Amino acid sequence: MAKTHNLGFPRIGSRRELKFALEAYWKGNSNRDELLETARALRHRHWRQQAGLDLVPVGDFALYDQVLDMSRLFGNVPPRFRDGEDDPLNNDFRIARGRATPDSTPVSAGEMTKWFDTNYHYIVPEFDATTRFSLNAERLLEQLDEARALGVEPKPVLIGPVTYLWLGKRKDDGDRLDLLAPLLEVYGQLLHVLAGAGVEWVQIDEPILVTELDERWRHALRQAWNRLNGCGVKRLLSTYFGALRENLQLACELPADGVHIDAINAREEVERLLDWLPGHKVLSIGIINGRNIWKTDLNAALDWLEPIQKRLGDRLWLAPSCSLLHVPVDLDSETELDEEARNWLAFAVQKLDELQTLANALNQGREAVASKLESNAQAIRTRRESSRVHNPEVKQRVAAINTDMEQRRSPYPRREAIQSQHFGLPLYPTTTIGSFPQTAEIRHTRRRFRDGEIDARHYQQAMRAEIAHCIQEQEKLGLDVLVHGEPERNDMVEYFGQQLDGYLFTRFGWVQSYGSRCVKPPIILGDVRRPAPMTIDWIRYARSLTDKPVKGMLTGPVTMLNWSFARDDQPRSTTCLQLALAIRDEVRDLEANGIDIIQIDEAALREGLPLRRSEWPDYLEWAIRAFRIAANGVADETQIHTHMCYSEFNDIIEAIAAMDADVITIETSRSDMELLDVFDAFDYPNQIGPGVYDIHSPNIPDTTQIVDLMRKASQRIPAERLWINPDCGLKTRDWKEVRAALGNMIAARKVLVAGDPSA
Ligand code: GLN
Ligand code: ZN
Repeated sequence: MAKTHNLGFPRIGSRRELKFALEAYWKGNSNRDELLETARALRHRHWRQQAGLDLVPVGDFALYDQVLDMSRLFGNVPPRFRDGEDDPLNNDFRIARGRATPDSTPVSAGEMTKWFDTNYHYIVPEFDATTRFSLNAERLLEQLDEARALGVEPKPVLIGPVTYLWLGKRKDDGDRLDLLAPLLEVYGQLLHVLAGAGVEWVQIDEPILVTELDERWRHALRQAWNRLNGCGVKRLLSTYFGALRENLQLACELPADGVHIDAINAREEVERLLDWLPGHKVLSIGIINGRNIWKTDLNAALDWLEPIQKRLGDRLWLAPSCSLLHVPVDLDSETELDEEARNWLAFAVQKLDELQTLANALNQGREAVASKLESNAQAIRTRRESSRVHNPEVKQRVAAINTDMEQRRSPYPRREAIQSQHFGLPLYPTTTIGSFPQTAEIRHTRRRFRDGEIDARHYQQAMRAEIAHCIQEQEKLGLDVLVHGEPERNDMVEYFGQQLDGYLFTRFGWVQSYGSRCVKPPIILGDVRRPAPMTIDWIRYARSLTDKPVKGMLTGPVTMLNWSFARDDQPRSTTCLQLALAIRDEVRDLEANGIDIIQIDEAALREGLPLRRSEWPDYLEWAIRAFRIAANGVADETQIHTHMCYSEFNDIIEAIAAMDADVITIETSRSDMELLDVFDAFDYPNQIGPGVYDIHSPNIPDTTQIVDLMRKASQRIPAERLWINPDCGLKTRDWKEVRAALGNMIAARKVLVAGDPSA
């Protein structure tokens, strides 16, 4: 019999109950018991929703973050939090967010970073010479009891010891792997305790096995798994988010009782795994995609699984490819979605149902689930054939893309000469990244328009008034290149997605990003096409109000792709090209309407980098190509800007240069421009605006600070190629802060120019 299990379930709740409970608690609007009760109710609901599985995950529910929970489980509390709160719950919140409730003392929070290649962010474990581990298993044991009381068979989920160390950071110069031995001590105790509590299987995640590991880390894995052998529980070594490749043999050989493999990303490896895997080990096949929202083609999955089952018999387990944390909870919430599109989708709850159907088909024969298989086949067929998905005209356009479309007419030096004449901008031109404060009033107006309380004319008037105000403020401040301020945009991806064919939006499709924060990625469902201009009217209006240049503001194709759920029926690169063509049309329309500076934001370019460095060149190649196609259909006079919300681009600087944007604005202020060191070794050819202050902070940067930063920048990049700007959009700030900060920015420019004899 094939067994079913799950690697993890989204904890936020189908109506984001956990988010609201957490935020109420942090604000002091609810108490600890209320928060814990919501959490308990969610766990129960989620276990009930998983009750059909042979094994359900326990320990995957975290109030804030599962990695932080591991740190607590192993007693790893960074020094600055050691004598803070008595209450471990509040102390966790202090680690996560710098403070627990309004009356607790603030402290600097733990660092947060992306969980592998997902959009989930975890709290980075901290280590130093004083790090000691000790076991705190109460919470986990309590949850085991809770699950058992509901009648489900619990399988504790743990982050593997080596992956845990790999995810963390040493705060001194020490080596993380020095901590392996003491960690294994406590890890071993934990497994004994779980065995004592009657646990049969434990899932131990070592996803680092899908990354490129040096011999030290491979050795650590061997050491760890050998050490944990014979702790009284069966251990499922689980890997996900990619193929094992050169680590495949290692994964098979580590002493475990079973291996889980991501058969979505590593399907070709299963065959080899079947050959390599010792005969006593279980093979758990991650057959349902835990990273997207599409229905699985169950018949195709069965065609593939049936021969495998013949070989494995009872040793075959089925599961989603990874934890379902990365998909929305329940499609049944989407009552407003049209029936057809809904029939193509599966969220967490539906994915588990698919899993059940597959297991039933394998265990009892396909006849036992004939009607489910039939309706699934029907859904797969209609999606495959739908004219909502396939637009021949779009496919033809993509097929007809030629290399000319990727090229500007002249190389940068010539464009620079033309543009400098054309715009006549001063030395160190000043600009912003696009958005200005999204006031409560703006959001209120947008909401009323969406809900039909005001009509299009009224809405347009209100937004125009905001644009006019924004232009006026920028003129008063004395900025050189103005923006319209983006009042009409709720979100930089959604705004464009809503105007493009091929996109679908959900109401409750929330996915946890970190802590209580969720994102609702749009779904790219079909070939992408731009039926009509998207931004022209707003930008043209802004342009009509001033003699200064106004930047048109667009979101780039790579960011549109990386922040959406993408199609699984064509390569991501193809979808990206379709988006590129849509943006290209908008760029050309802006140009035709007299907008001669156009910014194309690629905030998420870096996020798309594959986990394995060996796959970076391929990704960068198509991503940069897509950007170039979007941007480069313009005349030499037109100045293309791009913006990126990060600065760790040392390792991709050549690709960024290859984008060939005339101007790039980036984030660097928080690192004191240190991140510009890359320009010592690499001669970035075009213009650059290193963000001079951190817009995420309410602090007002002072003029001398900005002058200092720009002087540092000018040591690496010739002054004629430098711009002055904040490090990102200003939408989360208020006008008072913005006026003060930009005022100082412009004052800094005056100081710089006065001190520069070439000016
Ligand atoms: N133009 C966008 C803004 O200013 C850019 C946002 C971003 O980079 N995340 O809001
Ligand atoms: Zn940004």
